[in-house]
Amino acid sequence: MIVTNGIIVTWEEPNRILNDHAILIKDGIISAIGPQQVLLDTHPEQDYLDADGQYVFPGNICAHTHFYGAFARGMAIPGSPPKDFPEILNKLWWPLDKSLTLEDVRASALVMLVDAIRNGTTTLIDHHASPNAIQGSLDVIAEAIDESGLRGVLCYEVTDRDGVDKSKAGIEENVRFIERVNRENIAGGRVGATFGLHASLTLSEATLEACRQAAPAEVGFHIHAAEHESDEYDSIAKSGMRVVDRLHRQQILGPRSIVAHAIHVDAREVDLLAKSGTWVTHQPRSNMNNGVGVSEVESMMRAGVGVCLGTDGFPHEMWEEWKMTYLLQKIWHRDPRRMSAVDVAIMAVYNNASLANQFLPGPPIGVIRPGASADLIFVDYHTHTPVTVDNLPWHIVFGIQERMVTTTIVDGKVLMQDRRILSLDEEAITAHARELAPGVWERYEDFAREV
Ligand SMILES: [Zn+2]
Repeated sequence: MIVTNGIIVTWEEPNRILNDHAILIKDGIISAIGPQQVLLDTHPEQDYLDADGQYVFPGNICAHTHFYGAFARGMAIPGSPPKDFPEILNKLWWPLDKSLTLEDVRASALVMLVDAIRNGTTTLIDHHASPNAIQGSLDVIAEAIDESGLRGVLCYEVTDRDGVDKSKAGIEENVRFIERVNRENIAGGRVGATFGLHASLTLSEATLEACRQAAPAEVGFHIHAAEHESDEYDSIAKSGMRVVDRLHRQQILGPRSIVAHAIHVDAREVDLLAKSGTWVTHQPRSNMNNGVGVSEVESMMRAGVGVCLGTDGFPHEMWEEWKMTYLLQKIWHRDPRRMSAVDVAIMAVYNNASLANQFLPGPPIGVIRPGASADLIFVDYHTHTPVTVDNLPWHIVFGIQERMVTTTIVDGKVLMQDRRILSLDEEAITAHARELAPGVWERYEDFAREV
């Protein structure tokens, strides 16, 4: 297939914007990029897909999300509104994840994947919890990813909050699924795995040690850390150490590990994250919603931490997350010079791609160049000012939006064309989830009343 008539944003380093060029895709891989007429003349046998003057970007990557949260949309929390993040966990997320059956897990994943295709997010790093349906839950999500045509990196968040048996089951689910990923080429290599941990505040020393022992050496961990100050207080009370120090001592950190949030870390913890090569993911919409504070992502990047960008279960609109990242640092520091859009691009484009590529061996994603995976989106953006390599990050902050994504391609396969989703039956998926929602909400209310 040849993609024609697009303005190609390659997101190479350095970035290039190519006019009058076409992309030749063979077997899911970008085989050539060249002047359009030359490619058409030399490959007359190929079908072509006309981008019709739209921008062609690599598909966006989400570094941290929770598919299982889909049923929270529109759900009422019984009793008085949660006053802080620990109450949000207790009153919302923990009763909700307990309510999920494997069928709900599948439905949650599918509605999130529909949303990702629509919003041009083609690779997602998920962090899953369903304490009453642990075993096999990652297979169910992997199957949904396979059907959707997208890419995903999965894990089960181990926690002690539901007792020893369930923390053991969580460990087993991670180990089993990691072994399956290593053994099989799930979804043609579009599914990868990490080892999931909920957060320091719900993990005992014994469980952390058990996780370290159970996890294969080459696999990284995916954990929430210092999302709220309570995680720090809890860690100090339990271990005499701050959260990141504790994770460091338990050998949880490293260049394949992901720490989500890192809002309440101190300078020593930032240094440990940088020196260990641990990735930090930033989710500003979630942080604002939970009222947990602002992560010092700009300072962390200056200190050498690889900061990535995620959605934390919000709609998979990565450019929306760019905008929030850009705006939040400015108001927080009361300085409009803070958080250049170029730094947001480093997080969301280059760091997210480096992170995701570690878990998905095979041709690289997140870039348009020969040899890379053909993960592309068409963006119907027609602006009244020039677009250059230098000002593109500001066009994304101030102009480009997810509703402009018209076509989503992964592995050379068209998943959405002209806003019509081809790989999944959006209507049926939405209708099925709507049928399941009242049952999930009923079970949720029963669990929430026990809190
Ligand atoms: Zn999260």
